[in-house]
This record gives sequence, C-alpha cells and structure tokens, in this order.
Amino acid sequence: MPLRAKKVYPAQFVYEKPASIEEAVALLDRYKEDARPLAGGMSLVPLMKLRLIQPQYIVDISKIQELRGIRKTSSHVEIGAITTNSEIQDTDWLLSEFPLIRDTVHLIGDVQVRNLGTIGGNISDADPSLDWLPTLIALESDIVIRGVKGERTVAAGDFLVEPYTTVLAPDELVTSIRIPLPKGKTHGAHIKIERRTGDFAVAIAACQLTLDGSGKCSKARIVIGAVSPLPVRAVSTEKELAGKILNESTIASAAEKSKNDLEGADILSDVKATAEYRTAMVPVIVKRSIISAVTGQSTEGKSGAHRD
Ligand SMILES: Cc1cc2nc3c(=O)[nH]c(=O)nc-3n(C[C@H](O)[C@H](O)[C@H](O)COP(=O)(O)OP(=O)(O)OC[C@H]3O[C@@H](n4cnc5c(N)ncnc54)[C@H](O)[C@@H]3O)c2cc1C
Repeated sequence: MPLRAKKVYPAQFVYEKPASIEEAVALLDRYKEDARPLAGGMSLVPLMKLRLIQPQYIVDISKIQELRGIRKTSSHVEIGAITTNSEIQDTDWLLSEFPLIRDTVHLIGDVQVRNLGTIGGNISDADPSLDWLPTLIALESDIVIRGVKGERTVAAGDFLVEPYTTVLAPDELVTSIRIPLPKGKTHGAHIKIERRTGDFAVAIAACQLTLDGSGKCSKARIVIGAVSPLPVRAVSTEKELAGKILNESTIASAAEKSKNDLEGADILSDVKATAEYRTAMVPVIVKRSIISAVTGQSTEGKSGAHRD
C-alpha cells in the first residue's frame, strides 16, 4: 500500500486580533487557561497542529505596534516583545554595542525562523534549549510584563520557573525586554553546540565581560543554557576571572571551574545528547565563549560544533 502523507490541522479555535495591549490582556483575562497569545507562531502553530496543545482561543498579538521596535534610552535598550529575530539582526548599532546579541541572533534557526520568530515568543516558549534567555540573563536584563492589574518587571534569571513554565499569569503578556547599557569596555560572545546548523542547542555558553583600563576583567557574567532544565550561572568561573588579566592560562583555569557550577544540577539527557556529553562540553564552550569575547572574534552564523 502506498504511503500517504497525513494532513495535520489544529483543532478548532476562536481567533481574536486585539489592536492594543489593553485589549489583548483583557481577552487573556476573560479566557484564562483556554487562551494562548500568538506571536510568530513558530512554536505555537506546530504544537497546535500536532494537537499537543489545543487552545480554544488564540489572541494574535503580532500586529500590536506598541509591542514592536527597538529603542535606546539613557540607561537601557528596550526591545518590544514582538520584535523579530531578523529585525534585531538588522539593527547594526545594537549588534555593535552588544556582540553577545549579535552572536545569539545569528545562531537562531534559519532565515525563515528568524523572519517570523519573536524575542518575546522565544522566552515565553520556555523551552530550555532556546538561545535568548541565557543571553538576556548574562546581560542582566529585565522582562517587562503587563496584565490586567498593570505592569511589573522580572529579572531574566527569574523568568523561568521550570521547563515550559514561566512566571506569567494567564492574563499576562511579555511586552518588552530591558537591557541595561554596558558600563565600561564590555565584550561578549555566545557559543552554541548544535547537531546541525539551525538546530536547537545541545549546550550554550553566553558570556559578557567587562575589562578595565589595564585589561583586567572587572566583571564577568557567564550563563550555561540547554544543559539543565533552567539556565545556570557559571559563578565559579565568573569569580575566577574577576581581577585577572585574561590570557590563555587564566581563561583555561577559570573555564575548568564551570564544572563546579553543575554540581547537583539535573543534567538533561535526550535524543540530542547524553548528560555525560553535555557535562563534558560545558568547560569547552565556556572557554570558547571567553576567548571569542576577548578577541572580539564573531561567531556569526557559526556554532561551537563547527568552529574547529
Ligand atoms: C525549525 C525551527 C528552528 C528553530 N531554531 C531555533 C534556534 O536555533 N534557537 C532558538 O532560540 N529558537 C529556535 N526556534 C524557535 C524560534 O526562534 C521562536 O523563538 C520560537 O519558536 C517562539 O517564537 P514565536 O514568536 O514564533 O512565538 P509563538 O510560537 O507565537 O509562541 C510561543 C509561545 O509563547 C507564547 N507567547 C508568544 N509571545 C508572547 C508574549 N509576548 N507574551 C506572553 N506569551 C507569549 C505563546 O502563547 C506560545 O505559548 C526554532 C523554531 C523552529 C520552528
């Protein structure tokens, strides 16, 4: 018998297209757990087609203009939640001020995914293998959230409760991401191991360094993603780097310390990679991320898996 492709359609739902944030959160509040916001649809639509989730109401936020755009103030950069990866990738001043953002966005999926996928949808999807959250934590960002009762902000490091669960209440939307402007001379890099180009990560190291006038590291924020259910700060490595001139030896010994930060963590083991492989790769990618940050060598379009 010839094999026939099975057509997969989502279950029926009611489609709502609010024109403002107020209208969107009022709809989410009315329908509560029966509703889902739709941004780029890159994750939500496949899940609906596979009927892994069957929301009765879809609240399409993709045309709410106040959720879109990248603005710079005297203290921070604000990226609207429905700003797409491609819009971020096309913002040259942002990429040159934040090499970590430049590296992150280039490594997300392929052109089609970057054209539709949004930064707010990426973090709200709460999949531990996605790229944005480790970067936003390394950059000490805040997530701006709006619900029917008003606005609140949450540090990026506190946004995920567990895989696929965020701090968002059913009536709440991510409206923007606030990234503080770098103080001093900062450097950053994002290293990702993936099985194939454009794939979801097996392991991520997002690194943001501040160097003082003498070339010493005055501050380091390094976040390991996709290795455990929640992103992990490599605090042992950060402490080891602080106050040091960064050279081959100080970087290598600091990167080794990242093993300590995984102690007691639940390490993911799945079809993409075993826990042993992920654990072994952490000091490797932490080291590469520090070297890439210091040398300013862009990882644009390349993942850790393909760099050697
Ligand atoms: C083939 C493929 C490859 C990919 N590769 C990568 C990759 O390499 N790296 C990576 O990081 N990502 C990758 N992605 C994910 C992609 O980048 C999107 O970020 C992600 O799919 C979600 O963004 P979206 O805008 O499409 O959100 P949607 O799919 O519309 O929504 C995702 C979830 O977030 C909720 N949501 C959306 N916006 C908001 C908001 N503002 N407030 C509250 N809740 C919200 C939705 O209700 C839904 O639950 C890939 C996706 C595909 C399909």
